[in-house]
Amino acid sequence: MIELVVLGSGTAIPSARRRSSGYLLQTGRSCILVESGPGTMQAIARAGYDFHDIDAIFYSHLHVDHTASLAQFLFASRLPDDPRTKALLIAGPPGTGQLLDGFRELYTPWLEPETFKLEVREISHGSFDFIDWNIGCLPVEHTDNALAYRFEHESGKVIAYSGDSDYCENLVRIARGADIALLECSYPDGMKVRGHLTPSLAGKVAREAGCGKLVLTHFYPPCDEVDVVAGAKSEYPGEVIRAEDNMTIEVTG
Ligand SMILES: [Zn+2]
Ligand SMILES: [Zn+2]
Repeated sequence: MIELVVLGSGTAIPSARRRSSGYLLQTGRSCILVESGPGTMQAIARAGYDFHDIDAIFYSHLHVDHTASLAQFLFASRLPDDPRTKALLIAGPPGTGQLLDGFRELYTPWLEPETFKLEVREISHGSFDFIDWNIGCLPVEHTDNALAYRFEHESGKVIAYSGDSDYCENLVRIARGADIALLECSYPDGMKVRGHLTPSLAGKVAREAGCGKLVLTHFYPPCDEVDVVAGAKSEYPGEVIRAEDNMTIEVTG
């Protein structure tokens, strides 16, 4: 069974209800962190997971609300009471290595991985195998190098993740036939902002891609004033879930 844990369903706006972006994919054989926005490390602990168990961190793009806790992750990984020993992969779009180097220089030498192997992989399209997953990505419409991901588990289950993106063909491609489409939904319909989706656009992607279930996330505060599920259902006939922090979605199969 795969567990998708929502660590943070919000954005860069400080919110009592929603932390910044963060998700865990846990299968029993592997544990993948997707994004590490502010609050992610505490959210991992709150969800009952040990951050030492994380095998890889994937980034969709390098905005602060998706990456800021990377420094905390690396610092905590080398604390002498309980240092990390497991290898760690950090994967993301071009610029991921530069971001990491920037953090390392800024906090030198306190982020250096002395007790574990750290691999950085910059990706922009294509796919590769990782433990029990095949992980693919495509560029989407947000920043220059923003990516959406397709996590295909060896069981056949597929979870697609939009990162931050406007409606585009590659979003539909990455989500094609996915059991779960985890799609950003930054602003309500009527408040559309370039580079982001609304509920109805997320529904449109899920319908065109033929997804089994749509999970809406990455909500700016105005989204909490409207029925985003109804907005998505105006375009998509399947089940729609409004993500909340600390929510776990089980993908069985
Ligand atoms: Zn964002
Ligand atoms: Zn962004």
